[in-house]
Amino acid sequence: MFGEVLLHCVSTESEIQQNSEQLEGHVCLLQALRVVQRLTRDKCSPLFSMIDSLWPPPVDPKSHDDLLQSPSDRVPPPCFCYRLSVQLGHMVPLSGQTESPLYRPPVLQTLREILQDESSRCHCSFRATVVHKELLSSNAGEREMLLFVTDPSLQREPNTDGNRRTVAVCLSPSCLIQSSVTQALDALQTQPVLMFRDAVKENAQIFCWEQTVIQLEPEDSSFSIPRPIILDHLGPETLTYSLCTVTGVVVAVDESTAFSWPTCSSCESCRLETREHQKGFLCLECGAVMDEPTTKMELEVFLSCSSLSHCTVKIKLQQKTITSLLNSTSCTEGYSVENVLGSEIGPLSVFVHVVNRSHTVWMGLEECDLH
Ligand SMILES: [Zn+2]
Repeated sequence: MFGEVLLHCVSTESEIQQNSEQLEGHVCLLQALRVVQRLTRDKCSPLFSMIDSLWPPPVDPKSHDDLLQSPSDRVPPPCFCYRLSVQLGHMVPLSGQTESPLYRPPVLQTLREILQDESSRCHCSFRATVVHKELLSSNAGEREMLLFVTDPSLQREPNTDGNRRTVAVCLSPSCLIQSSVTQALDALQTQPVLMFRDAVKENAQIFCWEQTVIQLEPEDSSFSIPRPIILDHLGPETLTYSLCTVTGVVVAVDESTAFSWPTCSSCESCRLETREHQKGFLCLECGAVMDEPTTKMELEVFLSCSSLSHCTVKIKLQQKTITSLLNSTSCTEGYSVENVLGSEIGPLSVFVHVVNRSHTVWMGLEECDLH
């Protein structure tokens, strides 16, 4: 039988760390425990993918003899699991006990090995470099985080068809993220290396749930990936929520999304005011005075890409690309949206946020900065 234990009154990250180090892999005594819930496969599938990865046990749980059963007389994996609740201090490792023979430490795989696993759902643990982060808002208003990760196995392989260069890791709102990981993700220029334990791969994406542990890894030269990071090329088979490179010719401009606004040239705030009886603008945010504010622009264009003959590709451009696009086409009467038609842009790094294949293929992209 399997049980999931909720340790109550563990409040700080150091307590979590300390308890996991003391308890993991050890035979423990549990006192005053309460059964909170009976979990089944359909109610809690990520938990059961973890249980399946531990099944069958390496030794007989009672006698600790090696289990040398033939596959035919194996007991099927359990179909339920109890969720137990224990107060902190009421779960203690038995003294004098070494690591339990039932304990199975996580087996680290490369991302390539994980992607090559053909089962529709598999349990996995891995190390990976985070190259990009996107926040998604789900229906319930909770924020899901999408991390694009890669590792040497995906970056160093020669380019063969179907070789993926990055993988999307989706962090559910229930996934506990340590503050050291949050800080590293907020300063993404450094592209942190993270360890993911007990995640689930499903349909070419990896999911992190409340059972997943994510830790910041120390720098390690043997895990370095060549720069610049290689991305997949946008193609007809590209999936929603992937990271790609794209090159194309601007064939149309979405006029409804094209707009520009003045911002402060020192702090980029848009809270500007014209000064009374004087020239120039005053920034209400930082107090800077400037003759001319900096103009920010937003622009979405449709691209024609040679690799995607019958697809509609729309991309939201970043400021630096808009500026260089307009500068390269500026004419005497100033900037005009029509002048960008026919310009080639790219290769750009893009986040593919929607792919619609209902009639023809329609792809919505957003340019992103990979530093
Ligand atoms: Zn300002």
